[in-house]
Amino acid sequence: MKYLSTRDKTLHLSAAEAIKMGLSRDGGLFTPERFPSLTEEEIRSLCPMTYQQRAALVMGKFLDDFTAEELESFAASAYSEEKFDTPAVAPLRQVGGSTWCLELWHGPTSAFKDMALQMLPLLLSASLRKTGEDKTACILVATSGDTGKAAMEGFADVPQTKIMVFYPRDGVSEIQKLQMVTQEGENVGVCAVQGNFDDAQTGVKRIFSDGEIREELERRGCFLSSANSINWGRILPQVVYYVSAYCDLMKEGAVAFGDRVNVCVPTGNFGNILACYYAKKMGVPLGKLICASNRNDVLTDFIRTGVYDRNRPFHTTMSPSMDILISSNLERMLFELSGGDDQLVRGYMDQLSRTGRYEIGAGMKEKLQEIFYGGFASEEDTSAAITALYADGYLIDPHTAVAAKVLADYRTETGDEAPAIFASTASPYKFCDSVLSAIGEKPVSDSVERIAQLEAVSGVKAPRRLAELKGKQPRFDGVTEKEKMEDIVLNFLR
Ligand SMILES: *Cc1c(COP(=O)(O)O)cnc(C)c1O
Repeated sequence: MKYLSTRDKTLHLSAAEAIKMGLSRDGGLFTPERFPSLTEEEIRSLCPMTYQQRAALVMGKFLDDFTAEELESFAASAYSEEKFDTPAVAPLRQVGGSTWCLELWHGPTSAFKDMALQMLPLLLSASLRKTGEDKTACILVATSGDTGKAAMEGFADVPQTKIMVFYPRDGVSEIQKLQMVTQEGENVGVCAVQGNFDDAQTGVKRIFSDGEIREELERRGCFLSSANSINWGRILPQVVYYVSAYCDLMKEGAVAFGDRVNVCVPTGNFGNILACYYAKKMGVPLGKLICASNRNDVLTDFIRTGVYDRNRPFHTTMSPSMDILISSNLERMLFELSGGDDQLVRGYMDQLSRTGRYEIGAGMKEKLQEIFYGGFASEEDTSAAITALYADGYLIDPHTAVAAKVLADYRTETGDEAPAIFASTASPYKFCDSVLSAIGEKPVSDSVERIAQLEAVSGVKAPRRLAELKGKQPRFDGVTEKEKMEDIVLNFLR
């Protein structure tokens, strides 16, 4: 199967090439030329399988330049019991008569990013081999908090790769920051940016499109690649858990094949919910896809009005991984909605970068609204959702709480009480401060001590790796102005 760019359909790359490059040179995102389907029979056959087996099978449908044996071994190692603290990998937890929470944070960094970033380095290493590449892949990452740590954890000491992470200095939680600056590995680098996530992301994109830097790195035997969710190797492993969740519901007898299940996803860069859409497109009987935002509700407005407008105040919230006003992966959805009109997509993206705004046509808007519902949660709503679920015996993080709240709003507004899943994207222990406050406790002053505090109060065990942060020494303390990220990269790759 070939991959084309959302801004140039004439490009035809293999999966290995698309994964190796991350982002197309024209600025577009790689997208499969067609979507394989999953028949009822195939979905039934996945039900008795392990998560690892399901992953190899689903991914194999898109990666025909990888063998089944390769994908099976990648899945076994990415989702091993050493890395994930539950054999189910992505378990469903029932939280009411017809509601399930899909826990995606059982990996090594306690955020859902692990689901893709434990797999991506294996795909990328294999892609380097398959394309006969002898240069070092230099992964540049802009992170709103969770991606940076998960990417470094995945790429640490992977041969023929280096990874440099930029995070917004005042835009991540203290635990997130500590997780990043204590990262081990000879090939990793971390630097804070004076600005917000969009500044960091814009800086990384700028470096990618800078011809001079590209040439300089070439001379040094490197090339740039991406581990952000614009890389197809990030999106594909995420499709798996939506397929897997449906299989688990069938296996439990909670649904019969064909019953529609609505899914609510806390959304920032639109990667996770896009993967959910792809699962639906392949044939998994999913219903409405509910896009949940925090106060940075640019996607809510887009889904409701067809106007994307990033010209609005940027809010720093207790769900920082969703503090985003430019949702990069929406570009792939525009490509879908327009029936693969690369010129139209290019036009929207030009407008977005020039004016910060674009408006889609009536036909596209109608399709968009048929597939998605958009809603958002204020900070008070988010806290209240944590409090309410805790009262029912379930401790969730603020990102997950945004999804819980928007799902409830969707049900109230539409009366659609079909079975629903909401995605849980981080362990509550990554955001102890907000979680403790929401459940009526005063957080102690030291951010690492709060982990023990939340454990004592809630009786829920903290993920081992987070508990181990106590006493770890920071390795990185760099800070840069957003205009000078180029220098940091050139220095790091010396
Ligand atoms: C990254 C992240 C999100 C947003 O996911 P997207 O794929 O960017 O939409 C939500 N919650 C958490 C905890 C995250 O780390």
